[in-house]
Amino acid sequence: MTEERSATDIFRLLADDTRVDILRAVAVAQYELDEVGAGAAELTFSEIYEHVDVENTSKLSYHLGELTGTYLRKSDDGYSLSHAGERIVRFILSENYEQPESFGPEPIDGICVFCGADALEASLSHQFFRIDCTACEQQVTGHPITPAQIKTRDVDTLIQSVKLRTAENARQIRRGMCPECGSHLSADVIEVPESALPDADSFVVTSTCEECLREYNSPLTYSVVYHPASIAFHWDCGVDVTRRGIWEFHEYVYEGNWTSEQIASDPDEYEVVLRHGNDAVRLYLDSTATVIETERVRRESGEFQRS
Ligand SMILES: [Zn+2]
Ligand SMILES: [Zn+2]
Repeated sequence: MTEERSATDIFRLLADDTRVDILRAVAVAQYELDEVGAGAAELTFSEIYEHVDVENTSKLSYHLGELTGTYLRKSDDGYSLSHAGERIVRFILSENYEQPESFGPEPIDGICVFCGADALEASLSHQFFRIDCTACEQQVTGHPITPAQIKTRDVDTLIQSVKLRTAENARQIRRGMCPECGSHLSADVIEVPESALPDADSFVVTSTCEECLREYNSPLTYSVVYHPASIAFHWDCGVDVTRRGIWEFHEYVYEGNWTSEQIASDPDEYEVVLRHGNDAVRLYLDSTATVIETERVRRESGEFQRS
């Protein structure tokens, strides 16, 4: 075990231009080495010295000593970035500490979950990609985005990137992994009687990361969208849910095609039904929102039957 160090000790190590330059130089030199699939490249003292503007070798030696153990790893073959070094140097290189460029308001596809109007607008609100309904003036959704995500895209590809990231994150969350820090997540289902659409879905799955304290909430219906049974069902109906944004599912809930209900208690069990035309998929979930059973059903003379 290493000795406990405070966050200020860790960050104080970086309050020096030369050390930030060293981390940057290690990343640049690894990039230029161009060794595909060789793992993290290790750089010798002299390779680093060539890349950093430092007075002499003893200064470099001192700074490398300070960084090693926290931001760098040292082996017989040389230096490479540690986990913290990787995270920090990517953050620095991508300039994700800068203020994001503004964008919007831009009209965007989808309907409002509250009023059903086709009047959504996307804009930047602090570090969030935010969608508002211009008809009822309510915020429909908000997703964290990074300054680099904005800087490297036009509006259309930015919207695509938000869809992709929210879908990827939703999958990780439902599989019990915090997308932010990688910790294990556990989930609870809670009833929200004042939900926007209590008849369609009044349950929320809430997952809190005990390590980084990020909290993730999702309507119960949306929590199963990326389950393989739902992806396959929608694919068969001609809809690729993996390419849709969360706000593009609002119409299904607003129109009552996606519903959830509690079907047992002690232990609690829930049923989510995702309908498309005369077909539907039913997913049964336990109290941790884990899907325990699925079935496809088809509407025959008004009633849904097992197909
Ligand atoms: Zn609205
Ligand atoms: Zn976390």
